Amino acid sequence: MQWDWAKQWLDGFRPHKCPECGAESDPTETKCPRCGKDFEATPFMRSSRNLTFLGAPKELALSLGGYVLLMFVSLVVSLAVTALAQSVLWQGGLTGAALSEALSKYLSSSSALALVNYSSYAIFLLLLALFLWKDWPRILKSFHSKRVLLGFAFGVGLFLLSLALSSLLAIWAEPSQNQETNDLMTKDFPVLVFLMTVFVVPIAEEAIYRLGLFSFLKRVSPILAYVLGAILFAMVHMHDLSSANEWLNFPVYLLGGAVLCAAYDHSGIGGSYLAHATYNALAITINLIGIFA
Ligand SMILES: [Zn+2]
Repeated sequence: MQWDWAKQWLDGFRPHKCPECGAESDPTETKCPRCGKDFEATPFMRSSRNLTFLGAPKELALSLGGYVLLMFVSLVVSLAVTALAQSVLWQGGLTGAALSEALSKYLSSSSALALVNYSSYAIFLLLLALFLWKDWPRILKSFHSKRVLLGFAFGVGLFLLSLALSSLLAIWAEPSQNQETNDLMTKDFPVLVFLMTVFVVPIAEEAIYRLGLFSFLKRVSPILAYVLGAILFAMVHMHDLSSANEWLNFPVYLLGGAVLCAAYDHSGIGGSYLAHATYNALAITINLIGIFA
């Protein structure tokens, strides 16, 4: 069988026509959605059998729109919190310079950071749940496979590898800005931060970067899916692109992106979610020990 880049590109996008009933379906379907006939597996289907596909347009919308939407929601929430805090302080009798000083002090506090950060995630997840309304059964099906347990191994492996890589890079690097903001919140709200980091944040990130980005790019080429999947995941975790110090953390984020893509490719979305949750649980536990011990 011919197996080259162009062939696969077509395999990933060209609607599949059922030989039995003539119905056209997404090339990722393993059986006809109309008559139920099992399709002969193409190389693309064989190499993608652990992935969950939502249809190319939805995957593209999720990868392009997911991050932008999350940023937009954060912006709106942070404007709302600012306006609310300002009006509370104003009603408390503060004006002018005293008001701006109290306001900026509140906005950089851990409770304001936690409020903005986590209500943005809550709103984003609600919108995501609505967007994926019809796809949840298909997504949750991936959790039924035993392969999901591979996710734990990917998570532990990623944790050990990033520990080794960051200790190597720590020779030059200061703690990342991401880390400092997190430490402030972790210290004041350890239980909330633990629950959000381990269970909630990975849902949003796995949806955008694996269900959306990786699935879509895999239709084009597996190499592109890994390379762009890892690079974009690393880019969005960078907090200051002009900081040389922050760039020293780039390889660690890049490794994280690549390993989570591999977890998705080999153990499905359930597996990459578990890998992400396991990694975050180990990282936050080390963090909590560092802060409270
Ligand atoms: Zn059919």
